Amino acid sequence: MRILLVEDEKRIADFVARGLEGSGYSVDVAESGEQALAKVSEAAYDLIILDLMLPDLDGLVVLEKIRNRKATQPVLILSARASLDDRVKGLDVGADDYLVKPFAFVELLARVRALLRRGQALPERLQVEDLSLDCIRRKVSRGGVNIELAPKEFSILEYLMRNKGRALSRSMIVEHVWEMDYTGLTNIVDVYIRHLRGKIDDPWPDKLIRTVRGIGYMVGAPQEAGAAASPPR
Ligand code: CA
Repeated sequence: MRILLVEDEKRIADFVARGLEGSGYSVDVAESGEQALAKVSEAAYDLIILDLMLPDLDGLVVLEKIRNRKATQPVLILSARASLDDRVKGLDVGADDYLVKPFAFVELLARVRALLRRGQALPERLQVEDLSLDCIRRKVSRGGVNIELAPKEFSILEYLMRNKGRALSRSMIVEHVWEMDYTGLTNIVDVYIRHLRGKIDDPWPDKLIRTVRGIGYMVGAPQEAGAAASPPR
Protein backbone atom coordinates (compact mmCIF):
# COMPACT_ATOMS: atom_id res chain seq x y z
CA MET A 1 0.00 0.00 0.00
CA ARG A 2 1.42 3.31 -1.03
CA ILE A 3 0.50 6.56 0.66
CA LEU A 4 1.14 10.12 -0.42
CA LEU A 5 1.66 12.46 2.51
CA VAL A 6 1.25 16.13 1.65
CA GLU A 7 2.74 18.13 4.48
CA ASP A 8 5.09 21.10 4.42
CA GLU A 9 6.04 20.97 8.07
CA LYS A 10 9.06 18.76 8.06
CA ARG A 11 8.78 17.70 11.68
CA ILE A 12 5.24 16.42 11.20
CA ALA A 13 6.01 14.90 7.82
CA ASP A 14 8.95 12.95 9.25
CA PHE A 15 6.99 11.79 12.25
CA VAL A 16 3.99 10.63 10.23
CA ALA A 17 6.07 9.08 7.44
CA ARG A 18 8.22 7.17 9.88
CA GLY A 19 5.19 5.91 11.77
CA LEU A 20 3.39 4.77 8.65
CA GLU A 21 6.48 3.10 7.28
CA GLY A 22 6.91 1.35 10.57
CA SER A 23 3.39 0.00 10.06
CA GLY A 24 4.29 -1.44 6.70
CA TYR A 25 3.12 1.28 4.30
CA SER A 26 5.31 2.93 1.75
CA VAL A 27 5.15 6.69 1.97
CA ASP A 28 6.04 9.52 -0.38
CA VAL A 29 6.12 13.04 0.99
CA ALA A 30 5.13 16.13 -0.99
CA GLU A 31 6.02 19.46 0.57
CA SER A 32 3.76 21.65 -1.51
CA GLY A 33 0.51 21.53 -3.42
CA GLU A 34 2.21 21.57 -6.79
CA GLN A 35 4.49 18.76 -5.74
CA ALA A 36 1.49 16.77 -4.57
CA LEU A 37 -0.30 17.20 -7.89
CA ALA A 38 2.82 16.17 -9.79
CA LYS A 39 3.19 13.05 -7.67
CA VAL A 40 -0.45 12.10 -8.00
CA SER A 41 -0.17 12.16 -11.76
CA GLU A 42 3.05 10.15 -11.72
CA ALA A 43 2.22 7.35 -9.35
CA ALA A 44 -0.71 5.29 -8.18
CA TYR A 45 -1.43 5.95 -4.51
CA ASP A 46 -3.83 4.00 -2.37
CA LEU A 47 -4.40 6.92 -0.03
CA ILE A 48 -3.56 10.61 0.21
CA ILE A 49 -3.03 12.40 3.52
CA LEU A 50 -3.42 16.09 2.93
CA ASP A 51 -2.51 19.09 5.02
CA LEU A 52 -4.59 22.18 4.24
CA MET A 53 -2.13 24.99 4.91
CA LEU A 54 0.51 24.55 2.27
CA PRO A 55 3.03 27.13 1.14
CA ASP A 56 1.69 27.46 -2.40
CA LEU A 57 -1.86 26.18 -2.82
CA ASP A 58 -4.63 25.74 -0.32
CA GLY A 59 -5.08 22.06 0.45
CA LEU A 60 -8.72 22.27 -0.59
CA VAL A 61 -7.67 23.52 -4.01
CA VAL A 62 -5.27 20.60 -4.27
CA LEU A 63 -8.07 18.25 -3.34
CA GLU A 64 -10.39 19.77 -5.91
CA LYS A 65 -7.77 19.36 -8.61
CA ILE A 66 -7.17 15.76 -7.61
CA ARG A 67 -10.89 15.02 -7.74
CA ASN A 68 -11.24 16.81 -11.09
CA ARG A 69 -8.80 14.31 -12.47
CA LYS A 70 -11.24 11.58 -11.52
CA ALA A 71 -8.79 10.20 -9.00
CA THR A 72 -10.74 8.04 -6.61
CA GLN A 73 -8.30 7.18 -3.87
CA PRO A 74 -9.37 8.08 -0.37
CA VAL A 75 -8.15 11.42 0.97
CA LEU A 76 -7.64 12.10 4.65
CA ILE A 77 -7.31 15.75 5.57
CA LEU A 78 -4.93 16.53 8.35
CA SER A 79 -5.32 20.08 9.49
CA ALA A 80 -4.99 22.55 12.30
CA ARG A 81 -8.19 24.15 11.07
CA ALA A 82 -10.69 22.67 13.43
CA SER A 83 -13.92 24.56 12.79
CA LEU A 84 -17.02 22.71 11.73
CA ASP A 85 -17.10 24.90 8.65
CA ASP A 86 -13.65 23.76 7.61
CA ARG A 87 -14.52 20.14 8.12
CA VAL A 88 -17.70 20.40 6.14
CA LYS A 89 -15.91 22.21 3.35
CA GLY A 90 -13.24 19.52 3.23
CA LEU A 91 -15.76 16.73 3.07
CA ASP A 92 -17.77 18.63 0.44
CA VAL A 93 -14.77 18.93 -1.81
CA GLY A 94 -14.28 15.20 -1.61
CA ALA A 95 -12.23 14.32 1.43
CA ASP A 96 -13.11 11.01 3.02
CA ASP A 97 -12.05 11.88 6.53
CA TYR A 98 -10.75 14.82 8.52
CA LEU A 99 -8.34 14.68 11.41
CA VAL A 100 -7.54 17.77 13.45
CA LYS A 101 -3.99 18.58 14.54
CA PRO A 102 -2.57 17.88 17.00
CA PHE A 103 -3.45 14.23 16.79
CA ALA A 104 -2.21 10.98 18.26
CA PHE A 105 -0.42 8.80 15.78
CA VAL A 106 -2.51 5.76 16.78
CA GLU A 107 -5.62 7.65 15.79
CA LEU A 108 -4.15 8.59 12.43
CA LEU A 109 -3.17 4.98 11.87
CA ALA A 110 -6.66 3.74 12.76
CA ARG A 111 -8.21 6.16 10.27
CA VAL A 112 -5.72 5.24 7.59
CA ARG A 113 -6.52 1.56 8.05
CA ALA A 114 -10.25 2.21 7.94
CA LEU A 115 -9.96 4.27 4.78
CA LEU A 116 -7.77 1.73 3.06
CA ARG A 117 -10.22 -1.00 3.94
CA ARG A 118 -13.05 1.07 2.59
CA GLY A 119 -11.01 2.06 -0.42
CA GLN A 120 -10.72 -1.60 -1.27
CA ALA A 121 -12.82 -1.08 -4.33
CA LEU A 122 -9.65 -2.74 -5.48
CA PRO A 123 -10.54 -6.39 -5.78
CA GLU A 124 -8.89 -8.78 -3.40
CA ARG A 125 -8.45 -11.22 -6.19
CA LEU A 126 -7.00 -10.19 -9.52
CA GLN A 127 -7.56 -12.23 -12.63
CA VAL A 128 -5.95 -12.06 -16.04
CA GLU A 129 -7.06 -14.93 -18.26
CA ASP A 130 -6.19 -18.08 -16.30
CA LEU A 131 -3.76 -16.32 -13.97
CA SER A 132 -5.12 -15.36 -10.59
CA LEU A 133 -3.57 -13.50 -7.74
CA ASP A 134 -4.97 -13.39 -4.24
CA CYS A 135 -3.86 -10.08 -2.73
CA ILE A 136 -4.80 -11.02 0.82
CA ARG A 137 -3.27 -14.49 1.04
CA ARG A 138 -0.53 -13.48 -1.39
CA LYS A 139 -1.02 -16.55 -3.53
CA VAL A 140 -0.68 -16.87 -7.26
CA SER A 141 -1.96 -19.63 -9.49
CA ARG A 142 -2.27 -20.22 -13.16
CA GLY A 143 -4.75 -22.71 -14.58
CA GLY A 144 -5.25 -23.96 -11.03
CA VAL A 145 -1.55 -24.64 -10.49
CA ASN A 146 -0.03 -22.82 -7.52
CA ILE A 147 3.03 -20.75 -8.28
CA GLU A 148 5.56 -19.72 -5.66
CA LEU A 149 6.82 -16.18 -6.08
CA ALA A 150 9.44 -14.23 -4.18
CA PRO A 151 8.01 -11.11 -2.46
CA LYS A 152 9.29 -8.63 -5.07
CA GLU A 153 8.12 -10.83 -7.91
CA PHE A 154 4.71 -10.92 -6.29
CA SER A 155 4.63 -7.14 -5.90
CA ILE A 156 5.58 -6.58 -9.53
CA LEU A 157 2.96 -9.03 -10.74
CA GLU A 158 0.30 -7.49 -8.48
CA TYR A 159 1.13 -4.03 -9.79
CA LEU A 160 0.97 -5.22 -13.42
CA MET A 161 -2.31 -7.04 -12.82
CA ARG A 162 -3.91 -4.08 -11.07
CA ASN A 163 -3.06 -2.12 -14.18
CA LYS A 164 -4.16 -4.80 -16.59
CA GLY A 165 -3.98 -3.62 -20.19
CA ARG A 166 -1.82 -0.64 -19.32
CA ALA A 167 1.85 -0.43 -20.10
CA LEU A 168 3.94 0.40 -17.05
CA SER A 169 7.38 1.88 -17.41
CA ARG A 170 10.38 0.38 -15.71
CA SER A 171 10.76 3.42 -13.49
CA MET A 172 7.09 3.25 -12.45
CA ILE A 173 7.65 -0.36 -11.48
CA VAL A 174 10.85 0.40 -9.60
CA GLU A 175 9.27 3.26 -7.70
CA HIS A 176 6.19 1.26 -6.86
CA VAL A 177 7.91 -1.91 -5.77
CA TRP A 178 11.16 -0.68 -4.29
CA GLU A 179 9.75 2.61 -2.99
CA MET A 180 12.70 4.57 -4.14
CA ASP A 181 14.18 6.30 -7.05
CA TYR A 182 16.34 3.83 -8.89
CA THR A 183 16.84 5.99 -11.94
CA GLY A 184 19.53 4.37 -14.02
CA LEU A 185 19.09 1.05 -12.30
CA THR A 186 15.82 0.21 -13.96
CA ASN A 187 17.28 -2.91 -15.57
CA ILE A 188 16.65 -4.54 -12.21
CA VAL A 189 13.05 -4.69 -13.45
CA ASP A 190 14.12 -6.70 -16.49
CA VAL A 191 15.82 -9.19 -14.24
CA TYR A 192 12.73 -9.66 -12.11
CA ILE A 193 10.46 -9.86 -15.14
CA ARG A 194 12.67 -12.62 -16.48
CA HIS A 195 12.21 -14.54 -13.23
CA LEU A 196 8.47 -13.91 -13.30
CA ARG A 197 8.18 -15.10 -16.87
CA GLY A 198 10.06 -18.24 -15.95
CA LYS A 199 7.39 -18.99 -13.39
CA ILE A 200 4.13 -17.75 -14.81
CA ASP A 201 4.66 -17.78 -18.60
CA ASP A 202 7.31 -20.22 -19.70
CA PRO A 203 5.40 -23.37 -18.76
CA TRP A 204 2.29 -22.18 -20.66
CA PRO A 205 1.72 -21.64 -24.37
CA ASP A 206 -0.03 -18.27 -23.91
CA LYS A 207 2.28 -15.56 -22.62
CA LEU A 208 0.67 -13.00 -20.34
CA ILE A 209 3.52 -10.58 -19.67
CA ARG A 210 4.14 -8.45 -22.70
CA THR A 211 7.09 -6.24 -23.41
CA VAL A 212 5.94 -2.86 -24.64
CA ARG A 213 8.74 -1.42 -26.67
CA GLY A 214 9.89 1.99 -25.56
CA ILE A 215 7.85 1.80 -22.35
CA GLY A 216 8.11 -1.28 -20.23
CA TYR A 217 5.75 -4.10 -19.47
CA MET A 218 2.11 -4.94 -19.48
CA VAL A 219 -0.10 -7.81 -18.45
CA GLY A 220 -3.24 -8.73 -20.37
CA ALA A 221 -4.56 -7.41 -23.64
CA PRO A 222 -4.02 -3.77 -24.49
CA GLN A 223 -7.00 -1.60 -23.64
CA GLU A 224 -7.71 -0.57 -27.21
CA ALA A 225 -8.85 -3.94 -28.57
CA GLY A 226 -5.65 -4.28 -30.56
CA ALA A 227 -3.37 -7.17 -31.21
CA ALA A 228 -0.97 -8.46 -28.59
CA ALA A 229 1.96 -6.66 -30.15
CA SER A 230 0.29 -3.30 -30.55
CA PRO A 231 2.63 -0.34 -30.27
CA PRO A 232 2.76 1.80 -27.12
CA ARG A 233 0.14 4.49 -26.83
CA1 CA B 1 1.09 23.19 6.80
